[in-house]
Amino acid sequence: MIIAANLKTNLTRHDTASYIEEVDKCAKQSNQEVFVFPAISSLDSFSAEKVEVGTQNAYPTVNGAFTGEIGLEQLEEFGIKTILIGHSERRHILGETQEFIAKKFAYFKEQGFTIVYCVGEPKEKREAGKEAMMEYISAQYEGIDTSYEKLIIAYEPVWAIGTGLTPTLEDIEDIHTELKQKSSAPLLYGGSVKVTNAKEVLSLKNVDGILVGSAALYAEHFCTMIQYA
Ligand code: PEP
Repeated sequence: MIIAANLKTNLTRHDTASYIEEVDKCAKQSNQEVFVFPAISSLDSFSAEKVEVGTQNAYPTVNGAFTGEIGLEQLEEFGIKTILIGHSERRHILGETQEFIAKKFAYFKEQGFTIVYCVGEPKEKREAGKEAMMEYISAQYEGIDTSYEKLIIAYEPVWAIGTGLTPTLEDIEDIHTELKQKSSAPLLYGGSVKVTNAKEVLSLKNVDGILVGSAALYAEHFCTMIQYA
């Protein structure tokens, strides 16, 4: 199983260091693959033996005139080899297009990064019926090499992220089964996973792990989810 935490714009550098230290301890006691995506300001402030620390974002360049971004040169300095791409907050709040996301994907694939690639539909697409919803999700695979050996996909319905809402377990299993036909990469579920539902989500067919946001902010809770896996 793959258990991943997206800390978003939360926790200071100091708090992230103790967070990763604590998570590393429990990760070492498990056989699971554990990823943590902290804020960019914390990418140099940890020591971890088992936890793989990745960046929530980067610009597809070595360096250059891209104000506010981080490039390959800075990531390499911190030893970062994992990136989250296509997260719904970057698609919908930061306005990243599929074209740009595909460019970013191709660049970091070329650099040999492990890529956690997010897909998922907004509420109106889910309400428009399964066909419309799957069509929307399929478009998020455009320009993406689904056979990349260091690819992990995360299915994250936008309406479930940070809302406390989740699809039914049957729905998760059903969509995961369809998405597995597009790529045999490990497939995580994300969207309001917490200590109280992680166990059942992890037990579903075609669910290879979870990507957790708010409920992962406390190391103790995230460790409980690692233990469930
Ligand atoms: C996420 O943002 O990737 C996420 C899954 O968030 P949350 O767990 O808070 O819904």
